[in-house]
Amino acid sequence: MSTEPRSRAWLEVDAGALRRNLGTIRRSVGPEVRILPLVKANAYGLGIVEAARVMAAEDPWGFGVATVPEGETLRTAGVSHPIIVLSPVPRGAVRPALDQSLTLSVSDLETLRLLAEASDGRRPPFHLEIDTGMGRSGFDWRRVEEWFPPVATLADSSVRLEGVFTHFHSADASDASVTEQMERFRETVRRMGEMARARADGSAESRWVLHAANSAAAIGRPDTAEGLVRPGIFLYGGVAGPDRPHPEPVVSLRARVVLVRDVPPGSSLGYGATHRAARAERWATVGIGYGDGLPRVLGNRGNALIGGRRVPIVGRISMDLTVVDITDLGDPAPSVGSEVTFIGSDGTERITLEDVAHLAGTISYEILTGFTARMPRVWTDRREGYE
Ligand SMILES: *Cc1c(COP(=O)(O)O)cnc(C)c1O
Repeated sequence: MSTEPRSRAWLEVDAGALRRNLGTIRRSVGPEVRILPLVKANAYGLGIVEAARVMAAEDPWGFGVATVPEGETLRTAGVSHPIIVLSPVPRGAVRPALDQSLTLSVSDLETLRLLAEASDGRRPPFHLEIDTGMGRSGFDWRRVEEWFPPVATLADSSVRLEGVFTHFHSADASDASVTEQMERFRETVRRMGEMARARADGSAESRWVLHAANSAAAIGRPDTAEGLVRPGIFLYGGVAGPDRPHPEPVVSLRARVVLVRDVPPGSSLGYGATHRAARAERWATVGIGYGDGLPRVLGNRGNALIGGRRVPIVGRISMDLTVVDITDLGDPAPSVGSEVTFIGSDGTERITLEDVAHLAGTISYEILTGFTARMPRVWTDRREGYE
């Protein structure tokens, strides 16, 4: 990087907190259960290579991604663990996945046939997804008698069924749906096992790695853990459901003041002039905007912290700049270069990721994955003091 990463706007990522959140998941599910950290979407926006490096030291089973290029990025960075591509892939991505030793998850017979064709006798592993109510991918749990025989035929010769999984639609809720989906999942796996045994492949079932739980289930419903859990958001500091234990915050979003101005009453501010000074005001222009991933809807709505005190965001947020009203901070006023916190702690004040997601009318996942390539990710380790 040509300029100091903390000179304008940046994300601070606490590697120690990430590690400790992984430890919290591990304690929740117990020592027998393996962990597949999800690092899709650039590790929820924080940096896939750094995140995988930090978590590789914690003995994960492997890593979960959504796309083949994400898996390729990990391989290029030297990650040698199993990498499961958890979303269905385009047909043309099957061969590249195999070339990079990525494990595909399979939701349809056509993909499995392509994988078998490309396998060249290597019998690559695959994970089979069962749709128990999520609806977007997976083999229909109600039709196992139809799809399992052709799956098993391919698995006998050219590919290897390594894992079987499902995904909950409401793991963060306290309703009965998790239990219902889990029953469907277990029933389908039981039927698959019966059919496999009838094909004289009696050992198959016991070899399958079963997995269902995302963060919310791993932390709140450890009875669904099976052999492996797939946490994502909790690792990165996102709260996984209203009644769940909270993770340690991992991300802070900070930027610097680039200009300070004193304006007379009636002065207009920003696109659409949606803010007008009601009195003599002091405005600080901050070097961050929606082009960095600060949600535009926070204009005239959100807050920031400067010098341990809370100030309002005034006017519309532009692509590159955001203005906060610092009139009430008095003197000495913040000046050019002062640090402004949009997510994170400053003194005793704190703005959480959830505060921002709530104000923006969305979820923490979208805030995290919305940070753009322009913003440096600065990995730190607050407790252990390495940078
Ligand atoms: C994203 C994803 C997860 C992780 O979900 P979180 O809610 O972030 O813990 C787990 N499994 C699958 C299939 C996913 O797509």
